[in-house]
Amino acid sequence: MSVHSLRGFRDLLPQDAARFAAIEAAAREVFALYGYQELRVPTIELKELFVKSTGETTDIVEKEMYAFTDGGGREVAVRPEGTPGVVRAYIEQNLSQSGHNAKFYYIGNMFRAERPQAGRFREFEQIGAEYIGNASPFADAESITMLVRLLEKAGLPGCSVELNSLGCAECRRNYRQTLLDFLRGKTDRLCEPCRGRIERNPLRALDCKLDGPWLAGEAPKLTLCPDCAAHFTRTQELLKIAGVPHNVNPGLVRGLDYYTRTVFEVRSSALGSQDAVCGGGRYDDLVKSMGGPAAPAIGWAMGVDRLAMLLKDKPAPNLAPAVFVVAATEAAQDQSFRLLAALRAAGIAADSSNFTLSLKSQMRSADKSGAAFALLIGEDELKAGTVAIKPLKEKGEQTAVPFAEAPARLKSFLKPAI
Ligand code: ATP
Ligand code: MG
Repeated sequence: MSVHSLRGFRDLLPQDAARFAAIEAAAREVFALYGYQELRVPTIELKELFVKSTGETTDIVEKEMYAFTDGGGREVAVRPEGTPGVVRAYIEQNLSQSGHNAKFYYIGNMFRAERPQAGRFREFEQIGAEYIGNASPFADAESITMLVRLLEKAGLPGCSVELNSLGCAECRRNYRQTLLDFLRGKTDRLCEPCRGRIERNPLRALDCKLDGPWLAGEAPKLTLCPDCAAHFTRTQELLKIAGVPHNVNPGLVRGLDYYTRTVFEVRSSALGSQDAVCGGGRYDDLVKSMGGPAAPAIGWAMGVDRLAMLLKDKPAPNLAPAVFVVAATEAAQDQSFRLLAALRAAGIAADSSNFTLSLKSQMRSADKSGAAFALLIGEDELKAGTVAIKPLKEKGEQTAVPFAEAPARLKSFLKPAI
């Protein structure tokens, strides 16, 4: 048997995992400030859920889904994105009844069978937010502001949001035909997949990685109906009040079918060709079309892997213990083990290697651990009921403190390091 992970799937070693955890912690803090509550939905759902909500002609459904038939003969899929599950739960659990604000966030891994490359994995983490039941531009502005504050809190200041409006079903009905007529005249310039899908969904061509760029310049533009235009203007005004920099980008379409009105993305050129950190938009018709109440909604999803890549030059999280306990003699092993327990009970991150190893070898581990202090117990300390505290990072005298006082003394030494 060869021991290797699958292509596009990877291990996050402790340093990376700590970066992810720090982003998640920042997100949870910001979500609490904005009144969002966590919703944990299943990783696997009926395939049909994603086909119907994400959309049949989307890349996700057409070619990226991990779908299979389970033992009971059901067609299921491992989730490629978070919104369909949240909407399913909202309908199934009657969450519209639970109060006037249905604001949910999720943190979880998503799965897409795409070609792996830098910043594109087959299993990746998303942090997402959904605000269901509020049609007003205040909800748009709040959702986008929260996203920008979250990115700041996570360590990425100065983000600018790319913003566009796709209008409502009404605006798009006319536009769909205009665009289709235009695209039919340009089939020789379209890529193979676009040629195949324009008849079913001409808008998808605008989001195509190959054709999108030239179409942005040449294709006819969508004209918003007065209501959608007012909603878009108001959203921009409110973002200005919130102090959120944004840039109207008529070429921004987004690859999912359910979007209406406001769509947005945060990008960073530092990411190269996989430049999107976060994408989102309004989905006013999705809940109803899935069999739920008429509930307009807006949400976004952020790629934690890409955000972590952007933050890789920030100081690495400190994973070192604060102190390292060493048993200098065999007789001191039990007392050292007791000391470890007392330190941890006092809230001090303490570690040790193997007390049965030589003093020299334990001290080498102490140095390697990155701890600020080694705590030694040998024959003398055992007799006197003390612990020797030895600084590891800075020059300094070894001091002896009574065993019972060691945790408190260390706390004062370590401040504000712990
Ligand atoms: P892209 O255009 O890069 O394919 P997308 O439009 O498919 O992105 P969304 O479905 O909007 O992405 O997902 C939101 C975020 O999730 C993206 O902005 C990105 O940061 C992240 N993301 C999407 N697909 C992947 C992936 N395969 N690997 C890592 N992160 C991803
Ligand atoms: Mg994609």
